[in-house]
Amino acid sequence: MPKSKSSENNRPKKATVGMQLLHNPILNKGTAFTDAEREDLKLRGLLPPRVCSQDQQMMRVLENLRRKPTDLEKYIFLVGLQNRNETLFYRTLIDNIEELMPIIYTPTVGKACQKYGHIFRRPRGLYLISEDRGRIDAVLQNWPHDDVSVVVVTDGERILGLGDLGANGMGIPVGKLALYTACAGVDPSHCLPITIDVGTNNEALLEDPLYIGLPQRRIDGSAYVELMDEFMESIRKRYPEALIQFEDFSGTHAFNLLNRYRSSYRMFNDDIQGTAAVTLAGLRSALRISGGALSDQRVLFMGAGAAGIGIGSLLACALEKGGVPKAEALRASWFFDSKGLVVAGRERVRDMQKPFAHKNPEIRDFAEAVRVLKPTAIVGVSGRPSLFTEKVVREMAKLNVRPIIFPLSNPTSQAECTAEEAYGWSEGRAIFASGSPFDPVSHSGKLFQPGQGNNAYIFPGVGLGVVVSGAEKVTDEMFLASAAALSDMVGEAEFAKGMLYPPLGSIREVSKVIAVAVAEEAFSAGVSSADRPDDLADYVERMIYSPDYGPLA
Ligand code: NAD
Repeated sequence: MPKSKSSENNRPKKATVGMQLLHNPILNKGTAFTDAEREDLKLRGLLPPRVCSQDQQMMRVLENLRRKPTDLEKYIFLVGLQNRNETLFYRTLIDNIEELMPIIYTPTVGKACQKYGHIFRRPRGLYLISEDRGRIDAVLQNWPHDDVSVVVVTDGERILGLGDLGANGMGIPVGKLALYTACAGVDPSHCLPITIDVGTNNEALLEDPLYIGLPQRRIDGSAYVELMDEFMESIRKRYPEALIQFEDFSGTHAFNLLNRYRSSYRMFNDDIQGTAAVTLAGLRSALRISGGALSDQRVLFMGAGAAGIGIGSLLACALEKGGVPKAEALRASWFFDSKGLVVAGRERVRDMQKPFAHKNPEIRDFAEAVRVLKPTAIVGVSGRPSLFTEKVVREMAKLNVRPIIFPLSNPTSQAECTAEEAYGWSEGRAIFASGSPFDPVSHSGKLFQPGQGNNAYIFPGVGLGVVVSGAEKVTDEMFLASAAALSDMVGEAEFAKGMLYPPLGSIREVSKVIAVAVAEEAFSAGVSSADRPDDLADYVERMIYSPDYGPLA
């Protein structure tokens, strides 16, 4: 049986009283301390007299929050709350997830990272620097918690679509782990955000006197890889059960590190594998609408980087599992990048693109590639806006009764086409999902609610599934299981509105179902040496952190 993830190991013990207690964000209940607790814990006189319920406290938080003039101000306010009263922070986040996810995560977290040194109040997470080479073990000892289930790590080189933000990238692991707690109920004290500061090549940051990272250029090559190797070993030594999620590394490092560690560590890369799973789920949902088979699809990608190649690889894996021979499974995906169609023999085909560089004449125009290859789906992962032109979408609508059109590039301003364009140019026949949210679109008297392929549907549930099962590694099959579970949770009501994913408000339920599917896969594939609990769903349920004030007195 896997080890129970009770938070007790990491909780400060009862001795904390008085002002010290009010300044401890994990134990603090603020005005919700009861009269008895105020008596026992030396709080008399230190709080205003009226005892508030958690709901009343949340009402006050929301009132203050909604008065803030900008999203960045809201972000700063929420981080302040997290630093004062973690339980109330998570209660507020969970109960208002649709409103607050875009503040705590994309797009606002991007703005926060850009200004991280300027809005800095208190440290959160663990910073490792290149000079820590040889002593990472010792630095990890400074982290106050002995029980860590999930580490999210970045080196800050490719933060969202914003490029190299160096140590300012810490906002990403912090935000992702807040979602681990809010969406999948991983106890916040079991979450460890890490930024590995290997320098930055961002000139503006190098010259900014308030930049929080090392004001020096990035290290690379063997020095970089040796540092990462030591990091992985040190984490394994201090936290043998922890899952390590890689976030926002540059495309090349992302692929190289994934291939280097995936078979020997409990790790995955969300930009590659999480994106792939959420897109495959969207594709499965689209086929439930159109009635098509996965094995009949031909997907043409605009962009052949980490996200695109990740999706193509997982799609090939899904097809192979369904009995399609490998060579044919790979030919379901075709890639177009800034040099044109990626084909065998073309100059400059990157290693990760090679399995998808099929034999074909070179094509430099995307609309022409659509006309020649006759894809059933186009997926935009180029980070460049407006590349799905009217000509492209109309050609797709000519070739397919229900063309699948997924402009996934973030943020909204970078999407390859808008929801309105996709529905308008296809006479309302497009099956649409984007990376960033779009407002509902009205077309020919019908209201469409565009689907958002948000990675937050996948990674918290996958992580929880890996943690509860004690899986030794994270396999492609687990991502396939998560994609199938996610798509299965979409019902006719959502399809009728054009949605390919469940409503964000149901994300805690979604994450639980995904966690069970992933853990089931781990047990049945023998990737976990633990015994499968008799009632896996109940077991997962019991692992879930809920932000309620426990008794202290
Ligand atoms: P990347 O830098 O690794 O890859 C970008 C690719 O686009 C490269 O192959 C590049 O050659 C190609 N490209 C650039 N300009 C082009 C042009 N004008 N025409 C054709 N191709 C062009 O980046 P990535 O990590 O793969 O991410 C790409 C985009 O996908 C980003 O905008 C990111 O926000 C988005 N993304 C979305 C999700 C999601 O929706 N869930 C998840 C991950 C990434």
